[in-house]
Formats: sequence, structure tokens, C-alpha cells
Amino acid sequence: MSEQTYLLALGGLLHDIGKFALRAGVGGGRIWDDEAQSDYGYKHASLSADFLRDDVPAPWNSGVAYQGVALHHRPQGRAALIVAVADRLSAGEREKAPGAEPLSMRPILTRLLEGAPGEWYWPLSALRAEREILFPQEGVHSGSPEREYKALWDEFVAQAKILKEASSAEGADLATYLASLQHLLLRYTWCIPSAAYHAIPDVSLYDHCRMTAALAACLAGEDDETLQALAQAPESEREVALLVGGDISGVQDFIYTITPRGALPALRGRSFYLQLLTEAVAAYLLRRLELPPTSLIYAGGGHMYLLASRTAAPKVAEVQEYISRLLLQHHGGDLYLALACRPLAGKEFFAGRLAKAWQDLSDRLRRAKERRFAELGEAMHGLVFADGQDQGNQDRECQVCHHEHPETKEVSEGEEAPAWRKCPACRAFEDLGDALRRAKYLYLEEIPPVMAPLDQPAGTYRDVLAALGLRVRLMERPPAETALAADALRAQVLALEDAALGRLRPAPRLAVGRQWLVNVTPEKNGRVASNDELAKVSRGIERLGILRMDVDNLGRLFGEGLGELATLSRVASLSLAIRLFFEGWVEALAQEMNRRVKADSIYSIYSGGDDLFFVGAWDAMVSLAQRIAADFAAFAGHNPSVHLSGGLVLVEGTYPIYLAAREAKEAEDQAKGLPGKNAFSFLGRALPWDTFERAAQEVEQLDGWVRDKKAPRSLLRLLMRAQEAYEAMVERQRREGATRTAAGEPQGYYGPWIPRLEYMLARLAEREKAIAAELGALRDRLREDAYRSIGWIGLAARWAELLNRERKEKTNDEVSG
Ligand SMILES: [Zn+2]
Repeated sequence: MSEQTYLLALGGLLHDIGKFALRAGVGGGRIWDDEAQSDYGYKHASLSADFLRDDVPAPWNSGVAYQGVALHHRPQGRAALIVAVADRLSAGEREKAPGAEPLSMRPILTRLLEGAPGEWYWPLSALRAEREILFPQEGVHSGSPEREYKALWDEFVAQAKILKEASSAEGADLATYLASLQHLLLRYTWCIPSAAYHAIPDVSLYDHCRMTAALAACLAGEDDETLQALAQAPESEREVALLVGGDISGVQDFIYTITPRGALPALRGRSFYLQLLTEAVAAYLLRRLELPPTSLIYAGGGHMYLLASRTAAPKVAEVQEYISRLLLQHHGGDLYLALACRPLAGKEFFAGRLAKAWQDLSDRLRRAKERRFAELGEAMHGLVFADGQDQGNQDRECQVCHHEHPETKEVSEGEEAPAWRKCPACRAFEDLGDALRRAKYLYLEEIPPVMAPLDQPAGTYRDVLAALGLRVRLMERPPAETALAADALRAQVLALEDAALGRLRPAPRLAVGRQWLVNVTPEKNGRVASNDELAKVSRGIERLGILRMDVDNLGRLFGEGLGELATLSRVASLSLAIRLFFEGWVEALAQEMNRRVKADSIYSIYSGGDDLFFVGAWDAMVSLAQRIAADFAAFAGHNPSVHLSGGLVLVEGTYPIYLAAREAKEAEDQAKGLPGKNAFSFLGRALPWDTFERAAQEVEQLDGWVRDKKAPRSLLRLLMRAQEAYEAMVERQRREGATRTAAGEPQGYYGPWIPRLEYMLARLAEREKAIAAELGALRDRLREDAYRSIGWIGLAARWAELLNRERKEKTNDEVSG
């Protein structure tokens, strides 16, 4: 690594930290007079310089970093010029005098496309996965922002001092310090606006500063003349950086196409590995390109984006080849990493042009995926297709993934369970999934990359990560300071829960921080509950629920959502906001439901990027889906352009998960097929979320009646049959192309089922006097919209019927027989 690049990144990361101090009412060490103004330009720059001097360890707090931090508004010297240019590219605005300091931040999701009704802001707080903190509030910031800023600033400085002390000890290194500092900035400046761009403060100090750091690192190699020219006119044709994107393909099949011999922990282990792999590839890229961690824009869910210097393309191609060989050796062509680059000219950081550049990069990534493994040439390419073919060696074939391996062996789960043949890779995934159950910390060691010789058989996930320079351990307790292995260069320990963070202390080569990870595991008798056991926790019918959800129109949100405002900092803010929800909040929500609402009923297989996959007791899955949809709407301030869709399927505990996963995806697609999406598919029928919520209310009433014996179970069957008759009619009209009347009105669905239903309801109301009024109201809801409401009322009846399905308890004879 080049220390200059890291120091420039440090300068970029801290250049605006003085804004935080300024709003907290910190006076600063310098009297603000004409002389000070001529030195620094703006007061925040002098406060940034104070922070650097007092709270960053020597020798990093002088020279390059000092210039970048203190003088970015009065650029004298290379470092100051670089940070000044990076600052303007990152913000995508011409330099102008800052207006009044904005006090609270408008969440970016409330601002996309149509925009949320009303104004929303994030309360000032250190980042934690709690509702009061993560969810925006409506109106304008009340209370006393300055006092809140002061409290937050004091906490931040106290943490920065602890970090300074740890990083002043012998053996400290800048890369470790930067990693810890970035974690601190995320925690304390995620909801602090960096400035009021175009009069709206919707970019956090965190995102603006880390992107300034990323651009400063890109510019490290430019000559003085270029830097001067860019400082004069950043909006130029000159190329200033390289946008690098990576996409792992084959993910769906890799996770879900394992046979029924693979238990849920294996699935969990595989999906966690893909997350680790995404981060490990991103970290490896940064290392090969000699870039600090701040250069990463985003890594998650198999996707990654980072900024490199404009001359980095040949190195990216080398990395591509290295990783292709690695994945081919260990995953036999099941997984592929596509990398692509797109040079960025200075002017592309302005006026929303960045969205177009991003689109170009996506096109390049798509084309790269179509030529998977082509970079390896003919000889290696042959291997992709040779592998996976049956060599006829039955006892070497793994019964989970079907790959042959010399070390495949029989594994038994217990005395009574049958033994299955499993390859080393599959056994390692199961162990990894199981280890997550109790994990509170993720320990990541950076090691010199070790690539196994190509003629060796496929290894486990550990071998893949080792070749990327990473060794991983899951821990229940924080590691000792001295835990660093002899061959490790440095390490990070990341708390998987907010509560676990407080026990972490940084050390000279140990960075600390928080890793967002949805890690919800149901237990039964001290181990991960099986599919069957989860199904048994359901109310009513014993079924496993398979839930998949993802954000609607995500590409459009990124592409058009920001419009003219598509700046680098804002794109970074948007991707961070989506992660906060899917990796931070979904964890808190599912954890709460798994502990309090229905114990040990939910298993998180994956949640990250913008999508999620859960398995659990079916009724718990319905509640979880409802909560996630409602919370996502609230998280976006009820912006009508921001929503998600999902699908839930019910299967028996013994049903193959890979089939169920596919069916859940089909259900999700069915929901996304509705006009406007924003829908949910359940029991084979897709409904917009607001209609689904009405159905859920209907269920509450129907379920209560049946449970309390106020209405006979036959009421449910009556409604279900009416729905079937209605659906048949809809289908017939659709086939005959008669969905509209001659006058162009939507065709009605009148048929004998309507008078029959009315008659039966009237008779029931006569008999069950206690609920006669409610039955009348039900009939009115049916009449609504020319009886089309039977579509969701019928669904509610089926749902209530499943909740009240009587379970045949197994007798002892049956269990032992
Ligand atoms: Zn296997």
C-alpha cells in the first residue's frame, strides 16, 4: 500500500468533520478573525484541523492529511488540491458559500421520484438498529438540535480518543486505523447532513466524506498541472476515476439447488458464504489496486462497486483472471465473478450524468456475464464443462451438491438419522451455518493470499477466502488483543449485535466495528430447528412457510430516482439506506418476532442488498411479511414510489427446499406482475398490499368467530366456494376475451353464486343473532365493487380455515412405528 494514498483518504474522510463540531457549538482553538478566515476559508475547516491535531494519532495528523483537512477551501499544495477537487466531485456541485447550516437530514428514500408526502427527517442519534433511531420522523426537527449535536459530538470524540490511544501504540498501522475510523464515522455521522445541496440536506456527512476519500485516493497519482486544471474546472472532459463493478452470478442456483439431504443450516451457511465472498472479493480488489477501504462504494448481495484510479483497468483484468481460476477450481463453474470498468470524466459527476455512467457499467457487467470464463482461454474453458459430469464414481458423489470429491464421506446426524454422503465443501457449509447460531462477533484476518495448486481437488469455503487473503472466524466472545495469528497482517472484529459492540476495544492491528447481518435462528433442543420442527410450530395446519421479498423497480430508483441530483454521494447514501433496512432493521424485527411474538418460529436464510429469504412456521411468515412491508413504507416516509413485493408459499416439512424456493420466487413474480407491483402473493393469489391488509382484518374476524364458535366452520367453506366460482368466471371471460362490456366498462361477474351466497348469509344471520350485524357488514363488503371483493374475502376465508385446521396429534404408536 502507498501511505500517501491512505493519508489522502484520511484527509478526505475528515475534511468536513468540523461541520459536526460547528453545529455542536464547539468554539475551536483559533479566534475566528480575518486572519483565520484567510487561512482556512471557512470555520468548519479550522475545526476539522483541530480534530485532526487533537484526536488523530501522530504522525498521520500532519503533512498530507493536515493539508487535505485544513486547507481544502484554500488549496495550497498537492494534498489540499486533491481533497478540494475530490470534495467537489463527490458533492457534484460547484463551490459556493455554505448557507445556513442544516440541522437535520432528510432521508434519501423520502425524496425519490414522486416523493413522500410531507417532510421527514432523521432524529440525531448514534446508529443502532432501533425503531426510534432508524425510522424518520415527520415534520421539522423540534427540541434542541444544538444540545443533541453536542451530546453526539462528545460521544464521538470520546470514541475517537480511545481509537487514537490504541493506534499510537507500537505496531499500529494506518490501514487498521482508517478501517476503525470509518466504522466510527458511520455510527456517529450517518444522520448528520453534510450540507444543504440544492437547498435540501439529504446526504449524510458520512457518505459525503467517504466518497471524498475515495476520490482523493483516485487522484493521488495525478500531476500538479492536472490537479490545478481540475481545481479551476472540475466539470471537465478529463478522466478522473474508474468506476469498477463486480457481479457474482450463479448465486440462486448455488444456494437453492441443493438436494433435500442438505439441511437448513447448509442453506444458511451457503448464503452467508456468498456474503463473505462478496466482501472478500471487494477487499481483494482494493488490495490489488492499492486502495484504502474508503474506496468501496458498496458490497453486498453478490454486487460490488468501487472507485479506482483511471489507470487501473489492466489490474482489474488481472484480478478477473485470478478470481475466475479460483472459482472454477473450487466451485466447478457454479459461481462466476464478472468485473467491468467504466472511466469517469470530471463532468460526469455533475448534473445527474452519473446515472448514465452507472447504466453503462451495468451493461458492461451484463455482457461480461454472457462471456463467463472466456478470459481463461480455451484450455481452462474446457474445464468448466468437464466438471460436474458424472465420472461414474458413485461413492464419491456428494448427495447434497452432486459434485464428486475424493474425500466425500458418510455423515450421520444422530443415531436414528440416516447417514448421507457429503463432500468436504458441503460439510463445511453446514458447520458455518450452525456456527452462526451462537455467533456474536465476526473476526476477519487479513493474510497473504494463498492459492492452492490447480491440480488439487476442490476445497472448502476456507480455501477460497484464503486465496483472497481472508481468514474468518465466528465467535461468541471478543477475541483477545493478542489473538492475531503470526501470518496475519491485520484483523477486524465486528459485532453482530449492537449490544455486543460495547465490549470491543481497538488495538494497533485490530480494527473494530459493527457488521449488519440478519442472523435469526430458531432452536430446538439446543440445535437449529429442522424444517419439520418449524412446520410444527405453526398454528392450525402444520406447514413450513417460504418467504421471499424484494424492492420493486430498484434499477429505476437508482437510475431515474435521483434525476438531476444523481451525485456520487447521493448514490452512496441511497445504497446505504437500503442496507440499513434490509441488513439492520429486518434483523431487529425478525429477532423480536422470533423471541417474543412466536418463539423459535423464524429462520433467516438471507437478507441483504434489497432482498430477503426466510423460512419458518407459516403463520409467523405471514406476520413477518406484513411487518416488513409496513415498515419499509414507513422507512421511506410513505413515498408512493418506494415499495416492495413478496411471495409466500406453504409446503410440508419434508418438501425439498430447493423446489419451495423456486415456488416462492414464482409467487413473488406473480405479485410483481400486478400493475404497479407493491403486492403480495399468498395461497396462490396476488393482492396489492392494501387489499391484503383488508384480507388480514377479515381473517381476524372470521378466525374469532370460528374459534369462539360464534359461526360454523361452514361459513368459511361457503366463502371459499364463492371465490372459486368467481375465479372460474374471471378465467372464462379472460379466455374468451370478454373482459369489457360493449360500452367499454369492466365486465361484471354475476352468476348464480351471488344469490346463493346472499341467501346463505341471510339465513346464517337469522340463526346467529350475536353476529347478525357483522354478517350484514360482511355482505356489504361483498357487494362492494360488484362482488369482486370476494377475491380477497375468499382468500381470507381460506387463510382462516388453515388457521383452524385441526391437527391430528400423532399417537405414540405412530411415532415409534
Ligand atoms: Zn457437496
